[in-house]
Amino acid sequence: MALTTSLNTFLARIGARQAPTQPNPDYFPYLELKGPAPGPHIFITAGIHGDEAAGIITVHELLKLLETTPLLSGKLSIIPCCNPQALAARTRHHPTSKQDLNRLFPGSKKATHALLLAHAIYRKVEKARPDLLIDIHNDWYNSVPYAIINEESDYKSPLTYKKSLHMAQLLNLPVVSEDLTQPHHAGLEKSLSGYASLQGGIPALTLEAGGSPIVSEYDVEIAVQILTNLLQKLGMVGPQPAFSSTVPKAYLGQVLEYASCPPPKVAGIIRYRALAGQLVEAGQTLAEIFSPSGELLQTITTQQKALVLGHADEPYVTPKTDIYALALPPSSK
Ligand SMILES: [Zn+2]
Repeated sequence: MALTTSLNTFLARIGARQAPTQPNPDYFPYLELKGPAPGPHIFITAGIHGDEAAGIITVHELLKLLETTPLLSGKLSIIPCCNPQALAARTRHHPTSKQDLNRLFPGSKKATHALLLAHAIYRKVEKARPDLLIDIHNDWYNSVPYAIINEESDYKSPLTYKKSLHMAQLLNLPVVSEDLTQPHHAGLEKSLSGYASLQGGIPALTLEAGGSPIVSEYDVEIAVQILTNLLQKLGMVGPQPAFSSTVPKAYLGQVLEYASCPPPKVAGIIRYRALAGQLVEAGQTLAEIFSPSGELLQTITTQQKALVLGHADEPYVTPKTDIYALALPPSSK
């Protein structure tokens, strides 16, 4: 059924409660679903970055599925689209202040729209105090789904780390640990899942659920499976089609260290020689860069054995382009 045509009617039918629409720029939809028996409380958010619409569609599809597979226990709190203005502007950042909403939590009652929005979202999460917060994001088009948590030493509460890790491992995905000292991860202590879990004591993870440039039907289907498989493991829904990752089994449920790939030394047309989900050995070719006349300008190789989480969407790169996301195997930690 078309969720978009009649969201409120649909939500009413599956017993969800939606906040009334408010005519202000900080409005975001919020809904709650309750099973008949007590159980875990899961809070799901999507669309913090306006150019990641697939996560929002994933939530819509999850809601549709819950119409025929009702919640058996527990509670779901959901913000399907955290940043409607950025979505409409088709930008990662909030369109008025140009701030990245996912570096602003817990927000503020003053100043920019983005800070106010972060404040309003975080208040919902804080008030709910769920057993798990899952913040859905989308990565490059060519990427495998993975979960992100933080380094154990960055958590105020060791128990919150334990719970976050346990939930991340239940997803049966690679679990990438964010090292906040790396320039690549600067400011992520103020991401929604970062702040909630590190400072707020709320178990949380970021789910990178496939590509962002378009809504990939394949990625949406996989992301829904990942979520429903988790709900099944928590006893919140009945049996679900099993999700199986394309990543080698030894990497699933394992905490992996994020590794960046050396940036290109030249500008040119890139041919990606290693694909998402693939294991690469030290010295293996990751990519080749060519001039418009066909001359091979650079071959980029890996420095160590790694799992390819994804590669960039750009066909033409410069020395500033981030081209690969890699994760180091558990044994190298
Ligand atoms: Zn994102």
